[in-house]
Amino acid sequence: MEKHLLSKSTFIRGSQCLKSLYLNKKRPFLRDRLAPEQLAKFRRGTKLGVVAQNLFPGGVDVRPRSYHQYAKKLLETQEVITSGSHDVIYEAGFQYDRLLVFLDILNKERGNWVGYEVKSALKISDTFLLDAAFQYYVITNTGLALKDFQIIYINKAYKFDGTLKLEELFIKESVLDRILPLQEFIKEKVEEEKATLLLEKSPLIDPGDQCTNPYPCDFIGHCWKKLPKEQWPEISYSGEEFYHFVDDVLKLVSEK
Ligand code: SF4
Repeated sequence: MEKHLLSKSTFIRGSQCLKSLYLNKKRPFLRDRLAPEQLAKFRRGTKLGVVAQNLFPGGVDVRPRSYHQYAKKLLETQEVITSGSHDVIYEAGFQYDRLLVFLDILNKERGNWVGYEVKSALKISDTFLLDAAFQYYVITNTGLALKDFQIIYINKAYKFDGTLKLEELFIKESVLDRILPLQEFIKEKVEEEKATLLLEKSPLIDPGDQCTNPYPCDFIGHCWKKLPKEQWPEISYSGEEFYHFVDDVLKLVSEK
């Protein structure tokens, strides 16, 4: 199997800025050092994804432990689906047209597969929809039909009363009707991103609003270096209260 060119995170990176996509692949040494807040955010998201797996107990986990295991885990996913050995797969892997995704949860419901993506957030953003649309595009093009695709996120009205109730903590919301109309856009964007990765030089893109929206880019130090420091974008890690809430939830789960 040919090595993938885009994953869901690099696809989203390219949607934010093609130059960031290019630099990430060809000049990774130019990346800024990851802020501790960013690192904590990634770890929190991964841990919350594992907690949400408990909404669908009894699944088989095919999460790759490193990129060396990608091919093996893709095969394992296919084996589980073909054999019917499990109705729930965590981190199910799919590759189509050199696009790679590992879906948080794949669940068989009344004979039909449904995809779930877990987000450490209080609402569904446009970027989450793009991410979901990309995953749907890859998975269904491998030949697996998905009856539905849902995003799982945190219920901000949830009140902890001594017992952790996952069904109340998380909200599951179908986004199928919002990602189906995006499929043609995904196809075009994929081609644009793949073409960018073939360029000899990085695309000429001036620093601007895209540098912090939707995520702080990790090439700010490189792209903004000719501009006075006062003009550099301010990076805020807002939502501290929410992060404390998630940290408390994760602590509760680890104590169970
Ligand atoms: S810093 Fe801005 S212009 Fe540079 S790669 Fe990142 S998003 Fe693109």
